[in-house]
Amino acid sequence: ASLVQVMMHLGEMATATQSLPDETLQLLGDELKYKVEVVSPEDEDRELLESFSIEFGEDSGSEQDLRPRPPVVTVMGHVDHGKTKLLDSIRNSNVVSGEAGGITQHIGAYQVGTVVDEEDRKITFIDTPGHEAFTAMRARGAQATDIAVLVVAADDGVKPQTAEAIDHAKAAEVPIVVALNKIDVEGADPQRVRAQLTEYGVVAEALGGDVQVVEISALRGENLDGLLEAVVLTSDAALDLRANPDMDAQGLAIEAYLDRGRGSMATVLVQRGLLRVGDSIVCGDAYGRVRAMLDEHGKNVQEAEPSRPVQVLGLTNVPSAGDSFLVVKDDRVARQIAQQREARERFAQQAKSSRRVTLDNWQRT
Ligand code: GDP
Ligand code: MG
Repeated sequence: ASLVQVMMHLGEMATATQSLPDETLQLLGDELKYKVEVVSPEDEDRELLESFSIEFGEDSGSEQDLRPRPPVVTVMGHVDHGKTKLLDSIRNSNVVSGEAGGITQHIGAYQVGTVVDEEDRKITFIDTPGHEAFTAMRARGAQATDIAVLVVAADDGVKPQTAEAIDHAKAAEVPIVVALNKIDVEGADPQRVRAQLTEYGVVAEALGGDVQVVEISALRGENLDGLLEAVVLTSDAALDLRANPDMDAQGLAIEAYLDRGRGSMATVLVQRGLLRVGDSIVCGDAYGRVRAMLDEHGKNVQEAEPSRPVQVLGLTNVPSAGDSFLVVKDDRVARQIAQQREARERFAQQAKSSRRVTLDNWQRT
């Protein structure tokens, strides 16, 4: 019997070349007494790395090797509520570092310093607002964000994209800090917005919950340090962010582009380990040796520790946002992993674009 006939027997109508959902494949396997194993791209990649004795996504070593790392923050919220303005204001003031002129380079993420309880603390901001970037990363199995800053305009309140952002943060189990923005605008009503937010399960401390709600004006740069402090306090209270800074670095590509003179410029976020100039790395299907690294001030740096974003020069091509990167033993290993990923990607593309043939015209050819 043909597969199509077996399928019909199972009560499933199918053409000879259509793709089948995983459950149907399982059913078909059971009927034909075959063990059907559905391998996800993530599993496939894990197996590839394991064949080089590499585990991605785990801090190596023991508990004692883990050191605190700064939180990584994504800014979300409804359109026009001030996400871009907030990211710009924080970037330009760079609150305590006192760096003249603030941060000048847009590399997709930046780190700022702040003092909380007389301690110097750092926060990394992903410089692309909105939940599209957040979900795009997550869809690829990558979690870059530790804390979501939810921007809500105090004169406008909770809107559809505010609610969506709350849903995304909750689904990702990422704590929320609310930036009640535009406090300077006439008609701003922070009390009303606090009450509104409780309906979405975001309960301010003032209302008996555990969410920090900070009133700010991104436009005037008011109370930005209050917001940064709230992020640090939330991180300390809700998360225990640690990473091993002594292993070969691993992390994610945040953004990348091709520069005419300098070639592939990829901003990566180090999630664990220490990334150094001279390291051999693979990033998606790009690979190469780190020729130089630049920080958000455009300055050369020799190494980057966990939660640090840096722009990496030296990759063969341009990776995609959300691609994982990892340091490997040498260039040869880097090239092999990259080439196998590329081959797999090409195969998947071909399968997608191949001509669809129905049972009917298949029989005639
Ligand atoms: P986004 O769509 O969330 O990125 O919003 P934008 O950052 O582009 O801000 C939308 C508009 O609101 C711009 O015209 C900003 O200048 C303005 N805006 C942002 N923050 C404030 C604020 O704190 N006070 C006032 N009055 N206007 C603001
Ligand atoms: Mg914007």
